[in-house]
Amino acid sequence: MRQSQLFTKTRKDAPKDEVSKNAELLIRAGYIHKEMAGVYSFLPLGLRVLNNIVEIIREEMNALGGQEISMTALQNKEVWEKSGRWSDDVLDVWFKTELKNKTEIGLGTTHEEPLTAIMQGFIKSYRDLPKYAYQFQTKFRNETRAKSGIMRAREFLMKDLYSFSRTQEQHDEFYQKAKESYIRIFKTVGLGEKTFFTYASGGSFSKYSHEFQTECFAGEDLVYVDEKSKVAINKEVLNEEVLKDVGFSRNDLVEKKTVEVGNIFNLGTRFSEAFGLNFLDENGEKRPVIMGSYGIGPGRLMGTIVEVFADDKGLVWPKNVAPFKLHLISLAGEDEKVRGEADALYEKLAIAGIESLYDDRDARAGEKFADADLIGIPWRAVISAKTIEKGIIELKNRATGEVSEITTDDLIKKLK
Ligand code: ATP
Ligand code: MG
Repeated sequence: MRQSQLFTKTRKDAPKDEVSKNAELLIRAGYIHKEMAGVYSFLPLGLRVLNNIVEIIREEMNALGGQEISMTALQNKEVWEKSGRWSDDVLDVWFKTELKNKTEIGLGTTHEEPLTAIMQGFIKSYRDLPKYAYQFQTKFRNETRAKSGIMRAREFLMKDLYSFSRTQEQHDEFYQKAKESYIRIFKTVGLGEKTFFTYASGGSFSKYSHEFQTECFAGEDLVYVDEKSKVAINKEVLNEEVLKDVGFSRNDLVEKKTVEVGNIFNLGTRFSEAFGLNFLDENGEKRPVIMGSYGIGPGRLMGTIVEVFADDKGLVWPKNVAPFKLHLISLAGEDEKVRGEADALYEKLAIAGIESLYDDRDARAGEKFADADLIGIPWRAVISAKTIEKGIIELKNRATGEVSEITTDDLIKKLK
């Protein structure tokens, strides 16, 4: 993409009321727009990052046997009354509204209820199980504190997968696979080293749920980490009993501030019993379906990546989520020859399948470099009269600051 065509521009300051580092940097670099507290639009660069994260997750969900769906944001009150979660006393983050005829409706905060209702039409016999459905869908939550930028938004994208199994054994087997898939996702987006599989409170159907907690100064959770195994216990549940269950000694654990980037939940028969989602087993006996739910917030993940890797110059994207692989900067000025060479390289990269952001703007070198640092693309390549004379391209690694000289062919090899 030619930067001269990009409608966003970098800016010196974020809105005065923006207190989170991730939102401040993303706004300044032109990735997102703040509509109001906790509500952000994704602009071209921001959407590219979000979509990269979504694709990484989607691949894993498909590999688990998940079937992608898209449920509605507008929610039927009667469906939610079946589980007892319509009341604001039970679910305190509801946004509710009404139709012209005064019928009350809700804006979806999560989708256990509507999906259980849908599955009633399709799950009848043990032959229909197991089944896994997932979506990337916009959730609405009236969060009281929305001070963490895109890490805690009032409107945000969630990947939510739900599992429907015949037996506890079948459920447990899938739960284990989902856990492994989550570990791969956090590794692929660049957070593997800092993310811990964490024992957390389980609700009514199992002793524990499991969270994936990423070490992050802006996080709102506290966990106790066993650094060897990368397993942690959430402060909420830390006591003698859980230490014994997990096999840890309190003295070996290190307290860390973290953010919950994902979680996996045993739902047992909590929803299937409320909705009468039953199946006939091999002996013709009626039994409730065993369910699980598995969430990840792609936007929260993106905000966490910003918080973890950014430096004093701006954003620093890990390669698998970066909006582009390369930021190509031409220092042509009035020099037609340099412009011609830079244009040619941009085309050549595109033909080789390497997506680059091409700074073809008529601007000073200092401004271009500062923008490149702020935008945070992993590699920055400079073409100038000097580099052309030497027959090389100057390449800089955004994360390490390391500068090297490289030929066009080697650059293409390196980035492919
Ligand atoms: P928290 O305790 O941080 O509020 P939660 O327990 O409410 O999270 P879930 O309801 O399980 O989270 O949602 C699944 C995933 O969706 C979370 O692991 C997180 O990644 C993401 N998520 C939850 N709330 C938000 C939010 N307000 N903004 C962005 N992402 C969110
Ligand atoms: Mg919450």
